[in-house]
Amino acid sequence: QEFLYSVFRKEIKDRKIPLSLGKTCPVKCTFCYEMDHSYRKTFETPLTTQEHWEFIFKEIRSFPTRESESWILGGNEYMEWTDLALHPKAMDWIEEFLEKTDKKITMFSVGYFDPARINRLAEKYPGRINFELSVITLGSYREQLMPKGPSVKQVLAVLDGPAVTSANFYSFGPGSMSEDAKKISDINKDCLLWMGCLTPLKYIDADTTKVMRQGKRFLPDEARKIYDMNL
Ligand code: SF4
Repeated sequence: QEFLYSVFRKEIKDRKIPLSLGKTCPVKCTFCYEMDHSYRKTFETPLTTQEHWEFIFKEIRSFPTRESESWILGGNEYMEWTDLALHPKAMDWIEEFLEKTDKKITMFSVGYFDPARINRLAEKYPGRINFELSVITLGSYREQLMPKGPSVKQVLAVLDGPAVTSANFYSFGPGSMSEDAKKISDINKDCLLWMGCLTPLKYIDADTTKVMRQGKRFLPDEARKIYDMNL
């Protein structure tokens, strides 16, 4: 327990909210850059319990609030990075964080949050939530790259409201990134569109690498289409 709390403390010192799913990320996206941790030492942490949360939250509350600071949901230095929207208590604890502190929170997710609840929280606490939604792709490569990812319907529902600050998605071939840009900006005019292509690292499988390379080849075309759409 003391060791676990020392890992939490280290992450908290770096302004992280060190929740844990207690396992590697179950979404298993084929492009995930978190498959290789050889560049840093990570410690195994169990599924965060209410008791852990009380410790974590008490520690966080002892830090002064700074306007320029935003607390990141998830440890990523000493712990493994996962999609914490999948923690069954994540929404409750995020709500408690927003209600009982005046701090900001930054969250990265492929979109498993309850759409109505996350958008309601963003309305209630304007300017406090920085939600970076990893859309990745809404098109035909979604099934291949994110076989366990949330449905397109779920992602679009999350986007339909004030919660999402930026949506990141990429070129994987003709009509990928440009189509997604159109769909996303039709639903949400305010969120930032964060686009480009993904770089295949050495350990990424051959099929995914192929799609990533194709995306890079079509990036200028896709970017031009988006520019011409004048979204
Ligand atoms: S949801 Fe994020 S952390 Fe999980 S497998 Fe996908 S890219 Fe990796």
